[in-house]
Amino acid sequence: MPPEEFRRFAHEAVDWIAEYLSHPERYPVLPKMAPGDLADALPSSGPEQGEPMERLLDDFRRQIVPAITHWNHPGFMAYFANTAPGPGIIAELLSASLNANAMLWKTSPAATELEQVVLDWLRDWMGLPAGLFGIIYDTASTSSMHAIAAAREMADPEARTLGASRGLTLYCSEEAHSSIEKGAIAIGIGQRHVRKIPVDAEFRMRPEALSAAVERDLAAGLRPFCVVATVGTTSTTSIDPVPAIADIAARHGLWLHVDAAYAGSAAIVPECRHILNGAERADSLVVNPHKWFFTPFDLSAFYTRRPDILRRAFSLVPEYLRTAEDSRAVNYMDYGVPLGRRFRALKLWFVMRYFGRERLAETIRSQIAWARELAEAVDADPHFERAAPAPLSVVCFRYRGTDEENRRLLETVNASGEFFLSHTVLNGKFTLHLAIGNMGTTREHVMRAWEVVRGAAGRVVL
Ligand code: PLP
Repeated sequence: MPPEEFRRFAHEAVDWIAEYLSHPERYPVLPKMAPGDLADALPSSGPEQGEPMERLLDDFRRQIVPAITHWNHPGFMAYFANTAPGPGIIAELLSASLNANAMLWKTSPAATELEQVVLDWLRDWMGLPAGLFGIIYDTASTSSMHAIAAAREMADPEARTLGASRGLTLYCSEEAHSSIEKGAIAIGIGQRHVRKIPVDAEFRMRPEALSAAVERDLAAGLRPFCVVATVGTTSTTSIDPVPAIADIAARHGLWLHVDAAYAGSAAIVPECRHILNGAERADSLVVNPHKWFFTPFDLSAFYTRRPDILRRAFSLVPEYLRTAEDSRAVNYMDYGVPLGRRFRALKLWFVMRYFGRERLAETIRSQIAWARELAEAVDADPHFERAAPAPLSVVCFRYRGTDEENRRLLETVNASGEFFLSHTVLNGKFTLHLAIGNMGTTREHVMRAWEVVRGAAGRVVL
């Protein structure tokens, strides 16, 4: 593409982005379409001859945008809402332009060194101890899989050579994210060796049940090797008692991994720092800036105090990847499955520097306050009930009716195009899950969502 053509269409694209981001709520948050609609409208094979950029951008606007679920929409309150702010988008554009591959220090010194620096900043803001080794993976699922692999390496170093070992057993709560079990599947631990420890009334792992499960497995000749504590569970943002879990891990020599994918970033707010109590004793921890740290998808930050073990689990260096700096530089390819690695650190650097810790903390603090306000409104309404405590920015609640009524209520709200909420099941009951996390969401959006839910309840049930 000649530079002049690039300049013209890049400007046009940036103009479109600026307009889009100033009013994402012009679009319905969920597209009105059925599976296959877009695929059926696109040609079944790629073009033999190149097409003009005008047509590509036009098709992007006409065909792709209407088929997008708008994560930038302030009414996106499903799962864990997230944000792609301007500085993060600009960094992604620059990173794509450099097309740097951060596999070796030599293949992009800035990408490697910036990754080290920004992960140290983030660790520091979260109040975690100095000296933790940080690495960026794509997602928390990948981060946790690497934690499980490192845990296996610690418990059974021969597994790397001889293949999966039998009897290694992993523990997490029944509220842990499915990525933990998937990680155990991928590493060859086997689903039969994943113990889902019961939770208390507030959906937190019960340490005495963990202790009993470990004892039972030891007596049966199994080999407990890893426990995963969750700080901010997917359904209810509950916080497992990490200090008590760390005691049990220490007693039995288990690798302790903390999954703080969503909630970890709240630790940058001084009054929330306690959510990571005990995490300083973890062998590894994951937090996702692409969840509640206003960084465009994807970027998962993984920390470990045992980088030597992680490296032992994965390092395999073919001749063509050897460099003269190997003894002095970090080559991130040694610490995981991927060889090629995107230059993700740039967007985290831009986001942290553009906003600064105080503004990011203030945004998280406000979102927690609005969630609390919503929780109180739910509590005050006799037609609704809260299904779990709301310690952070998620509120789980249900209409005091049947599961079917709640399902229809959710469908009605989501069909409005104004809000997108998701669901979970708590104590066997279908429950609405409303997550505040987009930087564009205001208190008014949250209160309006509650109004829409109440209005929909009237229509669905009466
Ligand atoms: N861990 C927790 C607690 C989560 O809530 C989620 C997703 O919501 C994940 C892990 C997986 O995140 P990712 O999509 O980055 O793999």
